[in-house]
Amino acid sequence: MLTQPQQNKFNQLSDLLRKENQTHNLTRITDPKEIEQRHFTDSLAAVDIINKLAAEIKNPRIIDIGSGAGFPGLALAIAMPNIQLTSVEATGKKINFQKQAAAELELTNVTLINKRAEDIANDPAHREQYDFAVSRAVAGLAILSELCIPFVQPGGYFLAWKGRKADEEIKNATQAIKLLGGQITDQTPYALEEETESSLQIITIRKITPTPKKYPRPYKAIKQKPL
Ligand code: SAH
Repeated sequence: MLTQPQQNKFNQLSDLLRKENQTHNLTRITDPKEIEQRHFTDSLAAVDIINKLAAEIKNPRIIDIGSGAGFPGLALAIAMPNIQLTSVEATGKKINFQKQAAAELELTNVTLINKRAEDIANDPAHREQYDFAVSRAVAGLAILSELCIPFVQPGGYFLAWKGRKADEEIKNATQAIKLLGGQITDQTPYALEEETESSLQIITIRKITPTPKKYPRPYKAIKQKPL
């Protein structure tokens, strides 16, 4: 449930996204109703999962990898003021949008980083420093796992938003997840409004053991030869 001030922030974010999208192609989704469903509601599909897994943690540290215009990260930061969000995005204009949004919405729990994930994954300030890594629509699960799992501390979780190809992606990523120290512990289906048949799900991967130092590899190697 969102409070009225939170609902107001989502409305502000929607307005800002549509306004900025006219000059800076940030997202394909531009209709207000669609923004609400496919950006906001979709991002918030993880709220219950995070609350359940982080019940003991007062201020869960969450890193969003490849956050684009801020999804799922900014939406989670609005809905869950107790989290500490770090949002990582390679493209400058997208991080600039998030910067503007975080300022206008007065989000005090957000840190923005304009870097590639693999370039900060060995930084002690970030490696294995997070309770959760989250990511939506960035890469197939094998590649994505190498980009995300190094940030998660053992005992923490990586949550991946996936669609109809989830089972195939899981099959192709099983080896990678294991090598990186993870294990799939859950698949949570969810639906957006007005969908009778949904193929959306959040895959929960628990970090069991530390990630070997050699991961992540440089992006070229990650892409050419997924684990
Ligand atoms: N998560 C957002 C954006 C998806 S588009 C959403 O669901 O709406 C994928 C984004 O990931 C792009 O903005 C791209 O710049 C970013 N990206 C891809 N690889 C990345 C990497 N290795 N590190 C950081 N950002 C990356």
